[in-house]
Amino acid sequence: MSKQCEICGKKSLVGNYVSHAHNVNKRRFNPNLKSVRAILNGQVRKISVCTNCIKSGFVQKPEVHKAKTV
Ligand SMILES: [Zn+2]
Repeated sequence: MSKQCEICGKKSLVGNYVSHAHNVNKRRFNPNLKSVRAILNGQVRKISVCTNCIKSGFVQKPEVHKAKTV
């Protein structure tokens, strides 16, 4: 599975590590992905979504059935 958000398509970016001595190495900035149970096309599926999409309410979460405590 690629490191990509399944809703907005956000992917990893390429940048540089730069040390104090200015040694430069390639690095990757990965999106903050979480695997979440969500409703897609009327079905409950587990998808990997970025936290930005979760906070913005783009992910519709299924109902959680809790045991009744009376
Ligand atoms: Zn996203």
